[in-house]
Amino acid sequence: MIVTRFAPSPTGEMHLGHAYAALVARDLACETEDGRFLLRHEDIDSSRVREEFYGMIETDLKWLGIQWDGEPLRQTDRFDAYAEALEKLKALSLVYPCFCTRKDIQQEMERMHAAPHSHESQLYPGICRELDSDEAAQRIDAGESHSWRLDAAKAAQSHGTLHFTDLEHGTTEVDENENGDVILARKDINVAYHLAVVVDDEFQGVTHVTRGEDLFSATHVHRQLQALLGYREPVYLHHTLVTDEHGKRLAKRNHSKAIRLLREQGHSPGEVIEMTGYVC
Ligand code: GLU
Repeated sequence: MIVTRFAPSPTGEMHLGHAYAALVARDLACETEDGRFLLRHEDIDSSRVREEFYGMIETDLKWLGIQWDGEPLRQTDRFDAYAEALEKLKALSLVYPCFCTRKDIQQEMERMHAAPHSHESQLYPGICRELDSDEAAQRIDAGESHSWRLDAAKAAQSHGTLHFTDLEHGTTEVDENENGDVILARKDINVAYHLAVVVDDEFQGVTHVTRGEDLFSATHVHRQLQALLGYREPVYLHHTLVTDEHGKRLAKRNHSKAIRLLREQGHSPGEVIEMTGYVC
């Protein structure tokens, strides 16, 4: 049985790119008779989420004829599960608290002479990785705000060689240096995208993760987390992104491509699906 999901963030209206992503996921699930296509609202970033977008996403999907199975999942109902997964990683000593501010990181980059926009400059430079554990514990006890980062190299030693398989791109060996020591739990909400996605895909029994190719590199760290947490390995399908007339990927600011607007302009669901460029 194939289980897929569409996982939008209710931080804006659905546009053609979201419709395309939902169609890819829905149609892959339909390849098996008992396939399931799930909807998950990725709403942990409460500062950007707006209540009306949950309903608007669901309305747009229904209007397009894209029906999901079961109740939509909201990540904001899942904080306990994320905390539990984080505790597991803490128990394995594969995460560490990070007290850095953006400014600390930037200064360290300058000290290291990391070329701006280079791969190196995108990765956390490891300032808190070697902090003495007693000192870190004292700072936490004193209430100093901190995030939790994956110790990617130590994790790689623990899980050994890993791969992930993409239906279009074949098999890729996981490179722990692709994302470095990513944040798994933010200072403000005690979770972050990478951890939440992995925990929920396992919880929802997602067998095939479909998403835009802009998230291809994130799959390296997701595969690491799955292995460390003892989760099942999904198959991936990283699809192309819908672009605007200038060849740039659509973003929430491309209001002219919003499904609601296209509907109000009198386009039919079929026409809107055609505009996404999706071919089944
Ligand atoms: N919420 C993410 C997005 O809106 C997708 C997450 C994922 O598929 O891993 O692009």
